[in-house]
Amino acid sequence: MENLILNRAECLRILNGDDDILESLLPEAYKLRTRYKGNRVSIQLLTNVRSGNCTQNCAYCAQSKDSQAPIEKYREISDKTLYGHNDMVKEFHLARHCIGLSGIRFADSDIEKLAARIRKMKEKETQICCSIGFLTEKQALLLKDAGLDRINHNLNSSRNFYPNICTTHTYQERIDNLKMLKGLGFEICSGGIVGLGESAEDVVDMLFELKEIGPNSIPINFLLPIEGTRLAQKDISKLTSAYCLKVLCLARILFPEVDIRCAAGREVYFKGHEKELFMVADSIFASGYLTESGQGLEETFRQIEQAGFTWRIEG
Ligand code: SF4
Repeated sequence: MENLILNRAECLRILNGDDDILESLLPEAYKLRTRYKGNRVSIQLLTNVRSGNCTQNCAYCAQSKDSQAPIEKYREISDKTLYGHNDMVKEFHLARHCIGLSGIRFADSDIEKLAARIRKMKEKETQICCSIGFLTEKQALLLKDAGLDRINHNLNSSRNFYPNICTTHTYQERIDNLKMLKGLGFEICSGGIVGLGESAEDVVDMLFELKEIGPNSIPINFLLPIEGTRLAQKDISKLTSAYCLKVLCLARILFPEVDIRCAAGREVYFKGHEKELFMVADSIFASGYLTESGQGLEETFRQIEQAGFTWRIEG
């Protein structure tokens, strides 16, 4: 059976149109989700390896140079915490250990140290994805040689809207970084944030920009306005469960075989709509986000099973 193909205009009509469209859109997305991802929800555990003190001014981020958010700041998380989280991924049969580092550029010595820690974690045969700023080719190869499977670098929004949320680096730098990493053979994780004040057209533009990148995984975050950041008072009334679900449906239909992850905001915007969420997204985080707390592991397992899905990765 042929997959449904949507062009930009149709995607835009869906986002701007009546929520009743979900009656036909959701079964279509579910069909593709089942065909390519079966019945499993991949759970990722996230560790913030370096927190705060970033030189960049991303408006939504508690770690940015302009943020007054009272977060814990550190240059390097302890081995005990990092390896402990990695062991949990193995022990609970989770899909992946995602590690994030605040900052945009790194000294070679920092990357060498990170590579040694990744090499150690890979002894446990966990899948590892690293969310990190702009790497040089030499640095990226060091991480690849250490066994890093995947790199996350989000586009965050459309090219047009990007200057509204960050002016310390450009959208094109992000694209160039992703292309370099893909060329080196990394699996690519790249997605964005919905609710930054962008239009529906920006969301569609971002999705089509991602088509040019061809990621293996697309995390879609729904803005959690953080006190102390520039977007603390952002109006999020547009982020209804139906609108968020429509965004995820578009991602699933445009990228049927790709991991579609409902990232930050899952616990808020899909509360009471978990079954519909899992009918579209096949991937989530548990136990919180970089600087925000989230649903714990046991509760996440229960919720997935209650919705009729599985999560355990055998092996
Ligand atoms: S999103 Fe990343 S680059 Fe931007 S301010 Fe936060 S840590 Fe820095």
